Amino acid sequence: MSAQKPWLKMQQYYRRRAASLLFRRPLLISPEQPLISFTFDDFPRSALFAGGAILNRFGLTGTYYASLGLLGRKTPTGQIFDAGDLVSLLERGHELGCHTFSHCDSWDTGTAAFEKSVVENRVALNRLVPGFEFKSFAYPISLPRPRTKGKVADYFLCCRAGGQGLNAGKADLNQLAAHFLEKSRHNIQAVKDLIDHNRKVHGWLIFATHDISDSPTPFGCTPEFFEQVVQYAASSGARVLPVIKALEVLGVPGCRQESIESHRIGVGYPNIGQLAPNKPLVSILIPAYNAQEWISDTLRSALAQTWERKEVIVVDDGSTDKTLTVARRFESEGVRIVSQKNQGAAAARNTALSLSQGSYIQWLDADDLLAPDKIACQMAVLGLCRSKRTLLSSTFGKFLHRWYRAKFVPTALWSDLSPTEWLMRKMGENLYMQTATWLVSRELAEAAGPWDTRLLSDDDGEYFCRVLLASDGVRFVPEAKCYYRAPGAAFGGSLSYIGLSDRKIKAHWLSMQLHISYLLSLEDSERVRASCVNYLQRSMIHFYREDPDVVKEAEQLAGMLGGKLRAPYLSWKYSWVRLVLGWSLAKRIALFARRIRWSSQRLLDEALFHIEGRGPAGQSRDVVMEGRTSSTKSLL
Ligand SMILES: [Zn+2]
Repeated sequence: MSAQKPWLKMQQYYRRRAASLLFRRPLLISPEQPLISFTFDDFPRSALFAGGAILNRFGLTGTYYASLGLLGRKTPTGQIFDAGDLVSLLERGHELGCHTFSHCDSWDTGTAAFEKSVVENRVALNRLVPGFEFKSFAYPISLPRPRTKGKVADYFLCCRAGGQGLNAGKADLNQLAAHFLEKSRHNIQAVKDLIDHNRKVHGWLIFATHDISDSPTPFGCTPEFFEQVVQYAASSGARVLPVIKALEVLGVPGCRQESIESHRIGVGYPNIGQLAPNKPLVSILIPAYNAQEWISDTLRSALAQTWERKEVIVVDDGSTDKTLTVARRFESEGVRIVSQKNQGAAAARNTALSLSQGSYIQWLDADDLLAPDKIACQMAVLGLCRSKRTLLSSTFGKFLHRWYRAKFVPTALWSDLSPTEWLMRKMGENLYMQTATWLVSRELAEAAGPWDTRLLSDDDGEYFCRVLLASDGVRFVPEAKCYYRAPGAAFGGSLSYIGLSDRKIKAHWLSMQLHISYLLSLEDSERVRASCVNYLQRSMIHFYREDPDVVKEAEQLAGMLGGKLRAPYLSWKYSWVRLVLGWSLAKRIALFARRIRWSSQRLLDEALFHIEGRGPAGQSRDVVMEGRTSSTKSLL
């Protein structure tokens, strides 16, 4: 069917994105001389005896990714190496890398089974070549699922994927890009252009292919073509080295233990969590944009945390009001205020994270509040669960001005859940957890990667998906509380308000696609696909009629997930408007009415806040500075 193709394309697109942000091991690629490596997957015999011979003629060597389960077999990439070939390979100075034992698909195989196949390959190699260890890895067939990527990273100095690109600037050692030569085997110019580009950007270009033969399989190329590439590469001014030699030139320590150590500790975090008796440091990170009205209350609630070891970092994202001035009043030893030019909430959060030192991270938006014992309650539970990969959540109540009237409404997310279960509930039932509810270990924050600055409205939703994916699961702490100032309070500036801006619609769609790919990476089952369709259906209202392209993509995606999208539901109050004026206008009117409603509710709540004596003139807000009581009434 013709529908099959777009789905395949879409699937590849998701898979390409799913793991790229998570479990990164960043390395700045800036060698004096550009680098080029030649790699062969599966290690068909011809790759050594034809391909390797060509490299040797130029005084060069390559890297061969072997699946020992394929030993001596005939496969779609040709006749595979035998035990004797392993010795020939090493004698000729080539490198041997790991490709799993059974050559299992990196996406379709569950993470545990995949890891088992990696270990099995090691054991099998040791039987054939005692004492020899694989140092690098290439993902078979597909790109990895995020959790698979996280697991495999612990075994190797680097892992190579595909992607038809090169590695320049900040590359990811856990997912190095490669260019498969067979895909341009009829276009030598494309390959030459890539080599030229690599020279220009001082990058590391990794070529990959399979067999080298006069009548190559679809996965290989001819000796003539291969030789042309090698010749051009060798004369391009680049150093042509096998993968591990290239890593050495790039300054990556040559043994596994060293590399893990330098990665985890070398970045200068005080590893206080492990060095008891000191308590772990918690970093409270506050991105702020035009929050002059709320920021001092937010900062007070941060400083009032009964957990003593804390640092507070505010990143003012180029506010046009007095946010920076107000925040600066709090500057002290434990409170750092920095400002940057306006780049959006995600960028501000990345800045805050990069400056932080804590073993645990508390995200806090500049208009939200924490109960004084919020962090302490969560840290107490953490002492019981031991794993640094446990993600902690808490309750949250919504308010406009009167935080003490906040409504704490439990949802299906308010419990201990596995990553899959949590995401299914979130997406299938349209639920969310407020940003401040989480307490995230440094390990998890590093594994999740940075906030995605392309996302505008649901950047926190997407970010915490990744944190979740990297985690062992969520531990819900019912005693811990935070207070979420409902959108509409920060009128117009609300990040969670999608509205009708085209940029926001596109960004929201991107976030949704990422959500779906993350969930499918954990489990691709009937129930998961049903949740994804529900999720698409609920979000249709944001796109419907506004963006026909997105609607079409969403419908296609729902179809491939086994569902069908209906036209979204618009309240009956506006359905007559729709009949008379059309969809777009009806939706605009409905949104406008909602804004008016928010705005009047906010005014009323503000008035009551002042009347009840807790407004700017009220003394009760100082309580938080003394704030050791756990009564929620003394929050401000
Ligand atoms: Zn392969």
